Amino acid sequence: MISGDIAHNRVLAAAALLAATFMLPVQAYADAFSSCIASKWSYARAAGVTRANFDAATRGLRPDPDTVRLSNNQSEFVKPIWEYLDTAVSDKRVKEGRAAFARYRDTLNKIAATYRVDPEVVVAIWGMETSYGSYMGDHNAVRAAATLACNGSRRSDFWSKQFAAAIKIAQDGHVPLDQMNSSWGAAMGHTQFIPTSWQAYAADFDGDGKRDIWRSVPDAFASTANYLAKSGWQYQETWGYEVVVPRNFNHKAADGKQKRSLAEWSRLGITRPGGRDWPRPGDQAYLLYPAGAKGPAFLMLKNFDVIKRYNNADAYALAVGHLADRIIGGGDFAQNWPKDERPLTRSQLKEVQSLLTRRGFSTGGVDGVMGPNTRDAIRAFQSSGGKVPDGYASTQLLQDLQRR
Ligand code: CA
Repeated sequence: MISGDIAHNRVLAAAALLAATFMLPVQAYADAFSSCIASKWSYARAAGVTRANFDAATRGLRPDPDTVRLSNNQSEFVKPIWEYLDTAVSDKRVKEGRAAFARYRDTLNKIAATYRVDPEVVVAIWGMETSYGSYMGDHNAVRAAATLACNGSRRSDFWSKQFAAAIKIAQDGHVPLDQMNSSWGAAMGHTQFIPTSWQAYAADFDGDGKRDIWRSVPDAFASTANYLAKSGWQYQETWGYEVVVPRNFNHKAADGKQKRSLAEWSRLGITRPGGRDWPRPGDQAYLLYPAGAKGPAFLMLKNFDVIKRYNNADAYALAVGHLADRIIGGGDFAQNWPKDERPLTRSQLKEVQSLLTRRGFSTGGVDGVMGPNTRDAIRAFQSSGGKVPDGYASTQLLQDLQRR
């Protein structure tokens, strides 16, 4: 479970990076870090942490150098979605997912009946987050969250709450603090919950009184199912369908927002590969082109957005949905990805954002990161020029912007 942009470094973050990279102003940075951590007592107290436990958790606490480095790291090159999917839904991961699905069948069936969430999706999220528990991260949630709370991030308040929540989880005896393994970004256990999500959604399914997403697979499954259920999961309805869009299609309907029933989309000429039927023609769906109008198209249902509550990225949700389908015997996508068209680099995307903004299509800032504002601005620009408004940042889009 990732929580968005954490890389907004200011002076302290720059000092942290310097200290991590060159081992230079280490003492000064360590002192600044210690006093920052000490100032987080108010968060801990509000979370119900005792003074003694706060002192024990923070004594000698040092920033996690990996967290400092990785939270400041934004690579110039963006991985194309087809490469992401090749890794995320590899044959190995499908095979292991099928084995896990069979091994935990009884537990999964009980969890599905309790939470009314489809079990293959729970297994797919487990596969995506930690490769079925084989890699849960070798960082410590308290230390990672403390580092993010005190590295100058503009989301310091958010991370301070995560830091306090992590200490509280250990205080309540669910897992010893030194065994609270996490990613560098404080995502914890089999299914990578950040501490406040753990507090809101983690469940004890094996009945030992501990909501132990680190050492109990049933607890981790139930926690994920509970998260999806509370986010509005529609039981026994899928996440979406790969679809074929006819050549003469009016792409104005493909703005990624307009919802229509599957029957209405069907009347507009959209079909499923192989001419398969829609199981529930009344379901509301929106049309999405994850790699632009030259790539595969999908009609997305409510559950697609529920998966995005776990990690707010189309690529992630598509990978989870596809992996879930593959685990229960589904095949690969029918259409090809436009592999000759590389995604824009971060600096090219910045140029797109600044050119769009200059033309009155506000992207809400120029940060080289594709978000909903940038996508909307691209769609508006494309519509104004009579192009297919797929919201996709291609080389062609950059050229059109440079020209007009
Ligand atoms: Ca338990």
